[in-house]
Amino acid sequence: MNNISIIDSLNDAQRLAVSAPNRAMLILAGAGSGKTRVLVHRIGWQIQVEGLSIHNILAVTFTNKAAKEMRGRVEDLLNISAKAMWIGTFHGLAHRLLRRHAKQAKLPDTFQVMDSDDQFRVIKRLVKSLNIDDTKWPPKQVMWFINAQKDEGIRAKHMVESGDVYQRTMLQLYKAYEEICNRSGLVDFAELLLRAHELLRDNEDLLTFYQDRFKQVHVDEFQDTNTIQYAWLRLLTEGKDNLFVVGDDDQSIYGWRGAKIENIYSFQSHYPNHQVIKLEQNYRSTSNILKSANALIANNDARMGKELWTDSGDGELISLYTAFNEQDEAYFVVEKIRKWVSEGGSRQDVAILYRSNAQSRQFEEKLMTTRTPYRVYGGLRFFERMEIKNALAYLRVMSNHHDDASFERVINTPTRGIGTKTIDEIRLLAREQELSLWQAAITLISQGQMTARASNALKIFLNLIKSLGEEANDKELFEKVKLIVEKSGLVELYKKEKGEKGEARIENLEELANAARSFDFDEANEEKLNELDMFLAHAALESGDMQGDDYEDCVQLMTLHSAKGLEFKLVFLVGLEEGLFPSQQSADDVARLEEERRLCYVGITRAMEQLYITHAESRRLYGKETYPRPSRFLKEIPAEFLQEIRIRANVNRPVTASTSRPRTSVQQVGTYKMGQRVSHVKFGEGIVLQMEGEGAQERVQINFQDVGLKWLMLSYAKLQVL
Ligand code: ATP
Ligand code: MG
Repeated sequence: MNNISIIDSLNDAQRLAVSAPNRAMLILAGAGSGKTRVLVHRIGWQIQVEGLSIHNILAVTFTNKAAKEMRGRVEDLLNISAKAMWIGTFHGLAHRLLRRHAKQAKLPDTFQVMDSDDQFRVIKRLVKSLNIDDTKWPPKQVMWFINAQKDEGIRAKHMVESGDVYQRTMLQLYKAYEEICNRSGLVDFAELLLRAHELLRDNEDLLTFYQDRFKQVHVDEFQDTNTIQYAWLRLLTEGKDNLFVVGDDDQSIYGWRGAKIENIYSFQSHYPNHQVIKLEQNYRSTSNILKSANALIANNDARMGKELWTDSGDGELISLYTAFNEQDEAYFVVEKIRKWVSEGGSRQDVAILYRSNAQSRQFEEKLMTTRTPYRVYGGLRFFERMEIKNALAYLRVMSNHHDDASFERVINTPTRGIGTKTIDEIRLLAREQELSLWQAAITLISQGQMTARASNALKIFLNLIKSLGEEANDKELFEKVKLIVEKSGLVELYKKEKGEKGEARIENLEELANAARSFDFDEANEEKLNELDMFLAHAALESGDMQGDDYEDCVQLMTLHSAKGLEFKLVFLVGLEEGLFPSQQSADDVARLEEERRLCYVGITRAMEQLYITHAESRRLYGKETYPRPSRFLKEIPAEFLQEIRIRANVNRPVTASTSRPRTSVQQVGTYKMGQRVSHVKFGEGIVLQMEGEGAQERVQINFQDVGLKWLMLSYAKLQVL
């Protein structure tokens, strides 16, 4: 590849950005304008033209999927293997640094990464063990507090105790939590970033080494960096003008997790020699899609302001579907996908995007029953499933006996006669003497004060872990996993679980061995680090790429947050309802509402050719039936870009029609008939206007006195005949 071909597929502004002489650069542009493309080509340019080695490049982004894609794009562009290149997520790269320099980071070699669920459990136990009332101090809130401090680079020791009860209690918990993590060699996600920052800040040699090594540092989705991430980037590029960032203020969607849009402004003052380049042409979407997105985001006040244009033609209108309920919504979407595939479309070009993970289940069920391959990103990720977490916990304690979180998880899973009393005693001793639970268990046995039965049961457990460790010692990674699965007793445990659930769990455990077998150790790290620990960290960091085959043509399901940076020909944006999207919590808060709107902007701009937006008139979510109003965002998309579609199993029939035909089965469903006066718990009184569908899909349209027309599923609506 020559120099020209690196820039010849770019427009003028993009070329300028890619080929600019080395200096700090800020590429500020809207969705689909080629920011990521510019970043990839910039890397190509530096290697090809500036003569940098792949070792000199650092590139960081937000999701594993985006990182994987970026690596792939660099490899395609340069026709090289970029495995050794430091391309990854902030968390992934921070982890890599900490593994390499565990000692200097003051971590044990066998430190383990906790995902947020693990972290939550540790905190929950902590709150309990300190006899703090968890109704007043919910562990979730404690977790948010701790993570928020870490995101700002604040350790417990930096905080001064104030007279305020809230602050005092939180600080006490933060301190105790830090102690537990240090003792157990546990690192949560926020800690990865904070410690990686401290590692470089406090070790001058190391910092100089990495500053020399990384001649160019690139950041995608810069608008979503938080304080500590940005501080880390600044350290790496201190005194040099080699930070290249791309971003879009309209796509900042992680404010709730500490992202600082202000970093874009700070960048401009920290790197005074920087150059700003704006990109204005969108290459991704049709004009109808783009104009809708532009119109929507114009409702936000806090914007740097920019307009995007495209020359790709109007394309189709955006389709809006009002579903009766969430099942109907899923049915509609899956049927559309089937049609797309039957017409030659590819499944991986299709994405279903939703606000909340809980929405995925309906779609999964419909996809499963129609045997449509799909993959869910995020959500209940493969590595988050209970059985997988149990197996991983065995592996973790095997690798690091002092990993308290995992110890607690497996000590009585499956049950082995170790009672709560024994476990409480272990905890108490551990707390009193500042021991790990493992050490405390050994001490307790040696003190000989337990009953023979309890002591024996505990010994058997400790020996099991030890002997598994010895047996696994010289085995391949996947054999280690198999060994654990077989000997931990988990398989027997799930065999006892009735029905498909147990079977599925056992299948998942088998899949874990496969995951270990195909674990790409090279990609994870170019040096020889402990394979098991790398795999375990991968399990904590990875967002569920285990469903479906990597190469299988799958429909993609994900939250709007995980869709950032991606694009699909056909997109379904589902659940556009008040209370869901925008979410309930954001409805009364202007800043949060604007963030929800940006999220909607992200969603719309994922679509290249066709966009369907759906909402349901009634929805069962989190176990409750709701009758949500359509999302305010729907009104913000100008009507000229929308077409409403209604798919009816039967043709709409007005009350007066069809009298000549014997249609009693349609006109009269159970006790309801057209023109019937009915009452609904929530909507009050109304008149049945239309009926359609059969069996569980039977539905009626009612004109309610107060709320007007509504379609309701008969099986859910619980109407009362008046
Ligand atoms: P987002 O804000 O969503 O992350 P982005 O600005 O990073 O979007 P890219 O993903 O880089 O945009 O580009 C969007 C699409 O447009 C991609 O398919 C990309 O290949 C294509 N594209 C970008 N620039 C050009 C160009 N000059 N010529 C042709 N296609 C382009
Ligand atoms: Mg991008």
